[in-house]
Amino acid sequence: MRRYRIAAMGGDGIGPEVISAGVEVLKLCAERDGQFALDFTDFDWGSDYYRKHGVMMPADGAEQLRAFDAILFGAVGAPDIPDHVTLWGLRLAICQPLDQYANVRPTRVLPGITSPLRNVSGPELDWVIVRENSEGEYSGVGGRAHRGLPIEVAQDVSVMTRAGVQRIMRYAFRLAQSRPRKFLTVVTKSNAQRHAMVMWDEIAAEVAQEFPDVTWDKMLVDAMTMRMVIKPGSLDTIVASNLHADILSDLAAALAGSLGIAPTANINPERDAPSMFEPIHGSAFDITGKGIANPVATFWTAAMMLDHLGEAPAAARLMKAVERVTADPALHTPDLGGTATTRQVTEAVCEALRQAND
Ligand code: NAD
Ligand code: MN
Repeated sequence: MRRYRIAAMGGDGIGPEVISAGVEVLKLCAERDGQFALDFTDFDWGSDYYRKHGVMMPADGAEQLRAFDAILFGAVGAPDIPDHVTLWGLRLAICQPLDQYANVRPTRVLPGITSPLRNVSGPELDWVIVRENSEGEYSGVGGRAHRGLPIEVAQDVSVMTRAGVQRIMRYAFRLAQSRPRKFLTVVTKSNAQRHAMVMWDEIAAEVAQEFPDVTWDKMLVDAMTMRMVIKPGSLDTIVASNLHADILSDLAAALAGSLGIAPTANINPERDAPSMFEPIHGSAFDITGKGIANPVATFWTAAMMLDHLGEAPAAARLMKAVERVTADPALHTPDLGGTATTRQVTEAVCEALRQAND
């Protein structure tokens, strides 16, 4: 029997609610498949840990995670702790040392879910956004001096390296090549950011030569937001910098119906460290503890994790079960306009998995 060690980290707010649902569904996926087993280890890192220890995770946190085959992560962020502390102290403190440089965000309109876009009912919107996840605008380089004085200065420097851009472009072209349309849109802002972004464009053109069967085009990020709304069917695979893709993927999630269904994977493509799988949404203080968080983003994320582990049939079975559930409006949580609870959706997905007839 194949065995995988999974680190499960709920984090803050609704994170633990959706991750416990995800673990329950994943255990059933393994049982239903019969060919592999998942061993979960829980980690209590996050804002409560910070309140007790003054840090979001132990200093050797990322090193502890290396022993695992994958990480399932909820969300981080609390009202009483600055967001940059929680983000840099946990999520980025894991992604960066484990070199999870490709952040992959699939977007589709699942059955039964209504896109806010007129005329979009499903197949017209089927994208994967690849986000550069290790440098760029979130490199952490910068500083702040002369606090409070008229001469105060603050800067966040967008750092792009040839090696960093090359590897994310290769990843994106390879992913585009694996999809039926073999089409990649490279997002840029090289008209205004005339150093790093011009290099980004040059490297895109160089890497494109290695993938003659992939068609590609280039889009300024502001115009891209318009194209996503007006011509969603003209897009397929998309690659963008850390900041640009961060913004575009929230737009993509909303266009697909809700932030509550959008998944993401922080991939280490070389597989020399574990990858991390998480819903795109944050800790959602406004609905924490109410039992109404949509667990679909976490289930989709869990399917991406199974796929990454090499368990494609189990991943496909899980997505099919999720789609059977989203197709029923009675099983929609409030973010989708329904009245279902996290528990009801989770039980329905488990039931659909038990009934899967493959
Ligand atoms: P958020 O994603 O937490 O919430 C935005 C809105 O979407 C809220 O109205 C929320 O109720 C709703 N929502 C989100 N997920 C949902 C789900 N699964 N089901 C139903 N509704 C859902 O974003 P925010 O309010 O901007 O941020 C709250 C906190 O989360 C902040 O501290 C922020 O820094 C943090 N955050 C963390 C991550 C992460 O851990 N990756 C991502 C985004 C935000
Ligand atoms: Mn974001």
